[in-house]
Amino acid sequence: MKPFVGVDLDGCLYNWDATARELLQNRGVIIPSDPSQYWDQIRDQITEKDWKWLWSSRGARQRLFEDGSSFPDGIGAVRELQDSANIVIVTKRPRDVTPATLRWLADQELLPHTVVHVPPGSHKHEIMPRCATYVEDNPSYAEGLAGNLGVTVHLPRRTWNEELHFSSDGLIRPFDRWSEVTQWVKKHIVK
Ligand SMILES: [Mg+2]
Repeated sequence: MKPFVGVDLDGCLYNWDATARELLQNRGVIIPSDPSQYWDQIRDQITEKDWKWLWSSRGARQRLFEDGSSFPDGIGAVRELQDSANIVIVTKRPRDVTPATLRWLADQELLPHTVVHVPPGSHKHEIMPRCATYVEDNPSYAEGLAGNLGVTVHLPRRTWNEELHFSSDGLIRPFDRWSEVTQWVKKHIVK
């Protein structure tokens, strides 16, 4: 059985931050500081009305999760890893955008073992299958995975997480290039 490798979508493979900004800017919403300097910064910088539009089905909701740009090196790395590992997409995206998510994955030629939409109120470390290692850009989710499962979490350095220091020292490995992740997985996980 191939080992399971958990991979987050937004901020890891899919550039959600840039996509949200583009959709809002096309609507005429001016947002300072690009990209976000901390988690949920966009929400702090726009009105409640514009935030609701972004998430509403008559607004941008499906496009928000499908029409945006990717992190190409992440796509290439996962395409490479999916031959030797079972990729599990672990995302907090709302469940109703599953069709958009699956279309996007197919367009990228990504063939994960499974896609898990973690429900509201649940944590990523609670979902099954448990993975041998994870890629996660959200600092608190990364801490939850490393702290509760005792596994290595690879954290892509982004402007919204680069200033942080982690308590799960040693288990959270910030990286600049996805090749660092593929090399680590091949060395430590894939037998
Ligand atoms: Mg993310």
